[in-house]
Amino acid sequence: MVTNKTIIMKKISITTTVLFFLSTLICISCSKDSGSSATSTGTTATVPDVFKKFNSNVTISNDGSTITIKSDGIPDHKSVYFAASDSRYQAYNGTNSAFSKNPNSIGARSYTFKIPALPAVNAAHEATPLGPIGVSVNGVPLYNQYAGPNTPLTNEINSFDQYNGHPDQSSSYHYHVEPLYITSINTKTALIGFLLDGFPLYGPLENGKTLTSADLDTYHGHTGATADYPNGIYHYHTTADAPYINGTGFYGTKGTVTQ
Ligand SMILES: [Zn+2]
Ligand SMILES: [Zn+2]
Repeated sequence: MVTNKTIIMKKISITTTVLFFLSTLICISCSKDSGSSATSTGTTATVPDVFKKFNSNVTISNDGSTITIKSDGIPDHKSVYFAASDSRYQAYNGTNSAFSKNPNSIGARSYTFKIPALPAVNAAHEATPLGPIGVSVNGVPLYNQYAGPNTPLTNEINSFDQYNGHPDQSSSYHYHVEPLYITSINTKTALIGFLLDGFPLYGPLENGKTLTSADLDTYHGHTGATADYPNGIYHYHTTADAPYINGTGFYGTKGTVTQ
């Protein structure tokens, strides 16, 4: 027996099929058009919502396989490394009694970070390089646990400003450890940013527990649900103890950074 409901359902189904067929035709013609245009920047995909946590002065795009993040690397907070005449200058007021300002100052860069849109584990676990290994939500680059080749941060730490950043000889401001301005504004559970392999970095607090490196694997992360990825994802955490952000290498395949 065929009920009215069944007939209506069939009509809806046929209509849906026709609409799908038409939209497919329209899409094919779209891609043909874009293929012949002068700006062959590839297709654009929606930037995942998690990237809305970046500051508005950081520009982000997604071509479907790569997320491109552009920033000038200037922190959105005060620092003793701005010129004394600059309104963003603030004398050191942190907790390190051994603080010693280095001779460098903060300058603008033109960073372009390209990270996988769909990060995946890479068994090679490439070691992190010196220089940027990731980018924080305020556009400031993240560096690893070394001051130079196999040189620990022991002395550099004393030049970190009250928000745990400092500039190098090329005026590139960066964080080797938890960016305290980000976690003071967004809490210790906050998304800090992304490493070059596309996996996210979070603050030290998770489910009410302050993590240490002993809670994490050799790359300084683990797999589990986060606020941004409720179905679970591999992610790194900052910890107060070394190696702070990353351990023995990237968990996934790293992207690129130019400046
Ligand atoms: Zn440094
Ligand atoms: Zn976690």
